Amino acid sequence: MADKRDYYEVLGVSKGATDDEIKKAYRKLAKKYHPDLNKDNPEAADKFKEAGEAYEILSDKEKRARYDQFGFAGVDPNYGAGQGAGGFGGFEDVDLGDIFGSFFGGGFGGSSRQSRANAPRQGESIRRSVVLSFEEAVFGCEKEITIDRVEKCTECGGTGAEKGYTPETCPTCHGTGTVQQTQRTPFGAFSSSSPCSNCRGTGKIIKKPCKKCHGTGTERRSRTLKVSIPAGIDDGQSVALRGQGGAGTNGGPAGDVIVTVSIRPHPLFQRDGYDVWCEVPISYAQACLGEKLIVPTIDGKVEYSMPAGTQPGTVFRMRGKGIQMVNGRGRGDQYVKVTLEIPKNLNDKQKELLRELEDSDTPQNHPGRKSFRDKMKDLFGKKD
Ligand SMILES: [Zn+2]
Ligand SMILES: [Zn+2]
Repeated sequence: MADKRDYYEVLGVSKGATDDEIKKAYRKLAKKYHPDLNKDNPEAADKFKEAGEAYEILSDKEKRARYDQFGFAGVDPNYGAGQGAGGFGGFEDVDLGDIFGSFFGGGFGGSSRQSRANAPRQGESIRRSVVLSFEEAVFGCEKEITIDRVEKCTECGGTGAEKGYTPETCPTCHGTGTVQQTQRTPFGAFSSSSPCSNCRGTGKIIKKPCKKCHGTGTERRSRTLKVSIPAGIDDGQSVALRGQGGAGTNGGPAGDVIVTVSIRPHPLFQRDGYDVWCEVPISYAQACLGEKLIVPTIDGKVEYSMPAGTQPGTVFRMRGKGIQMVNGRGRGDQYVKVTLEIPKNLNDKQKELLRELEDSDTPQNHPGRKSFRDKMKDLFGKKD
């Protein structure tokens, strides 16, 4: 268990991979290593299982987040528990890859499951969040973020050796960073590999370490990066700066910087995907008589002819007045919801006028109320 491979490494995707990339990578591996297609290849079963496990975690948003934060311990309650426990616990730690490897003549032993100590590794991916105003998200903007990342040492250029010295290949492991040990037992030869102690798994010996980085070849630096936020981005979406994360090791690629946005609410507009909603309060008279309403849109004020007799709660759609779509042409729509505001503090004169208006009302003015009364009569009889 201790030599479990990183799930991202198993699927061959970056830490910032999208759900789609993860799915595609898994499908490819599942096809390649499916047991039905690999009857003569015992290694395939392991790979198939390994890929399935990685996909189970990385395809689940919650599990993936826990894995990103805590590693295997975040997604497997038993992880690390069996080590050193003795008894049967030790049994599970046997590397099946090694057993199959020696039974079937070797060749595909531990190396497939255990990545070499000095194998190329992708650098650390860094996550940041930025807060945007409603307009910044709608129209796009440029933001600056400051990150702390591992970079190649500027003094030695990443070699870890002082100027004039070059790292030499480790004579113990011949540069592989791992040493193989073979044990002969009545069941056959068991081979296991462990990091080379002479070079501490790096495969290289540095006689004169660089003074600045003490031989690590890296240094931490604070960097301010510009992030281009595309127009139309929505709350919770991310922008990836590929290769802007920590430097890789042993020639591996750099990690990414993933910037996730959160959007502040707007006093007038609500957002639903690429559509914009806005509520406009109107008066009873405006609703009755109709009116040219002045409606706010993200492009500015627009006149909208509200017809006479508009009911409260009516929603008007203004096509193409919504938000520019991030990946594609076209824009969403704007929806305008009309709400009716009833005055609470009328003076005597106003009350008098309203009563006059009410007295002049006819059933034809109120088809809804007439229909309601007719149904009441049907239910309870003609007598009031
Ligand atoms: Zn250095
Ligand atoms: Zn070595």
